[in-house]
Amino acid sequence: MRTRLWPLALMLAAAAPPAETLARTNPMGGGTIRVVYEAPKKAVYREIYDTMRQRRVLERVGTIIGFVRLPTRLTYRLKECAGELNAWYAPEDRSVTICYELIDSIVRVAPRTKSPAGVTRRDAIAGPVFQILLHESGHALFDLLHVPILGREEDAADQVASLILLHLSPADARMVVDGGAYFFATTAKEEPVDKGAFADVHGLSWQRFYNLTCMAYGSDRRRYRGIVAKGFLPKERAEGCEEEYDQVAFAFQKLIGPHLRMRFRSGAQLRRAFRSVPRS
Ligand SMILES: [Zn+2]
Repeated sequence: MRTRLWPLALMLAAAAPPAETLARTNPMGGGTIRVVYEAPKKAVYREIYDTMRQRRVLERVGTIIGFVRLPTRLTYRLKECAGELNAWYAPEDRSVTICYELIDSIVRVAPRTKSPAGVTRRDAIAGPVFQILLHESGHALFDLLHVPILGREEDAADQVASLILLHLSPADARMVVDGGAYFFATTAKEEPVDKGAFADVHGLSWQRFYNLTCMAYGSDRRRYRGIVAKGFLPKERAEGCEEEYDQVAFAFQKLIGPHLRMRFRSGAQLRRAFRSVPRS
C-alpha cells in the first residue's frame, strides 16, 4: 500500500535470510517470477504461513503477472515487518512484499462466519490479500514497463488490480470484490477523516470502496446488479461505471496490452492459470 518504507524492508531482508525460496520460471517462457515465503519468528503467524503456502497465494498472483512479458525478474515475498501493517513494491530490488502483520489485521477484522452484507469469512480474508497483492503488482508493472500515469498512482494501481481481478472466474472475481469491499468498509471505520487524511497519496477507504464496486458494476451490470440494488453503490455514481470501466480497460490495452503474452480480452487462460497453479 505504501511505497515509502522500502529502505527498512531492504534492511530487514538483509538481516534475515529467507527460510524458503522457490524460483519459478514462467511456464510460458521469458521473465521469471520468484516467490519467497519467509517463515515467521512469531508463533501466532504460523497459521498464516502455512495457509499462504498451501493455497499457493504468491504463486497464483505471480502466475497472473507472468502473463506480462517483464524485462527482469519480479519477486513476491511474505515476511514479518517488525510490527508494520504494510505491503509495498520496491523498485530497487523489484519485489512485492506483504507483511504477516497486515494479513493478521485482515484476519482479525473478518466476520466469524458471514457479515451482515453476506460476505463470508473466507472471502473477507482472501479477497483483500489478493486485492493488495494485485495493487502492488500494478505498481510493479508501472515501474518495470515504464507505463506513464496520468492522475494519482495509487488510484491507477487500484484500477489495474480491479481490472485484472474482474477477468478471473466469476467466483474468484466475486471473492475479491466482496472481500476487498468488506475490507475497505471496515478500515473506513477506523480512519480519521481530518485534513491530513486528504493529504495521503491513497484515496480514503470509502473512495476505494466505491471505486472497486463501480469497476465491478461497470464490468458486468447484470452480474453485479446487487451492488446497486442493495444500496452499496449510489445510483448517481453507478450510471457512469460502464464508462469508467471502459476507460481503464482502454488504458490497460494501450499501455500494458503490447506486453501481454495473450489476448487479455477473453481472459480464459488467465482464469485457468489462477485456478490451477502447477506444483513446483
Ligand atoms: Zn500503492
